[in-house]
Amino acid sequence: SLTAGIVGLPNVGKSTLFNAITKAGAQMANYPFATIEPNVGVVEVPDVRLVRIQEIEPADKVVPTTFEFTDIAGIVKGASKGEGLGNKFLENIRQTDAIIQVVRAFEDSEITHVSGKVDPLEDIETLNTELIIADLDHVNNRYSKVEKAAVNSKDKEAIAEYQLLKKIKPVLEAGEPVRSLEFDTDEAKIVHGLFFLTDKPMLYVANIAEDDMADPSQSPLYQVVADYAAKDHAEVIGLAAKTEEEISEMAESDKADFLEMAGVQEAGLNRLIRTAYHLLGLRTFFTAGGKETRAWTFKAGMKAPQVAGIIHSDFERGFIRAETVSYTDLDQLGSMAAVKAAGKLRSEGKEYLVADGDIINFRFNV
Ligand code: GDP
Repeated sequence: SLTAGIVGLPNVGKSTLFNAITKAGAQMANYPFATIEPNVGVVEVPDVRLVRIQEIEPADKVVPTTFEFTDIAGIVKGASKGEGLGNKFLENIRQTDAIIQVVRAFEDSEITHVSGKVDPLEDIETLNTELIIADLDHVNNRYSKVEKAAVNSKDKEAIAEYQLLKKIKPVLEAGEPVRSLEFDTDEAKIVHGLFFLTDKPMLYVANIAEDDMADPSQSPLYQVVADYAAKDHAEVIGLAAKTEEEISEMAESDKADFLEMAGVQEAGLNRLIRTAYHLLGLRTFFTAGGKETRAWTFKAGMKAPQVAGIIHSDFERGFIRAETVSYTDLDQLGSMAAVKAAGKLRSEGKEYLVADGDIINFRFNV
């Protein structure tokens, strides 16, 4: 499954955020894997649609879909030079599908900052420089070999890669990430195969003061992070990690009261989960009408048989059709019977591109 790696300089609140994630953790009974690595936090993806579907088509059980975060410790200045646990750190990032960079955006004289002052921009640049240098090393390691093959042997694959390396190198040298470039489908395939760190989608989490929770944009430190994210082809959210950790330990009813008093619409952790989910191009479909109402994760662009395979490989192998209702139709019409009467129950075939919010009953041969 896909995972988002949490990174950041020391003392910015990574562990605090990761604790909030694990404390809010998914009901393990719903999680099919027996052992989870200690640095992996599994959370339920909050989705109000699940509640509404359950109200319309009550089942014994409601099962949300889940999402994984991985805690990646160990960044230091000079990581790309192999200092400290540098190499391992970069290798761990390489294994993730998106990067969540926690940035300190709160003042607190009690908590030491590694470089002596709270400066989100400098922190971001310190970390990103390591990623860019690692990618540039990667380009340089391949460059002359690929160039030779492209020029001498006229090898098609080498030519394609050489063209891309020529395009990517100056961008990295200018301090920009690979993801700032546009690629067509064929190019993107090659680029993804090269596993650049700065090709991965990035989400900046500004760890703001509790007082700024109601409106992060009021915080100048948050604004610095947001401005940088906009230029960096990245997303941003603001949350107060320490408060989120406290919230994740509260009972549901206390949570709602606390958030209302703080003037916050939704817990920061929920926003983090939703943003990371979308950053990875993840979508949700539902199954209902049986013993359980359940949400499942698929990747945008998947066709019906592939999506069926997420539930069970037999569903994909014997796929016949997908009886599909969109959530919006079910929500508006209020019952499955009304959906059918309105002709909104669709029978979709092998080529159907599943949409976010589809409620599907797969028909298959065993
Ligand atoms: P890490 O090294 O990035 O994992 O940082 P930690 O999560 O261990 O946090 C470093 C220190 O900052 C700890 O003492 C935390 O309690 C504190 N801290 C983390 N988040 C916040 C926050 O939002 N506000 C304040 N005031 N302190 C925080």
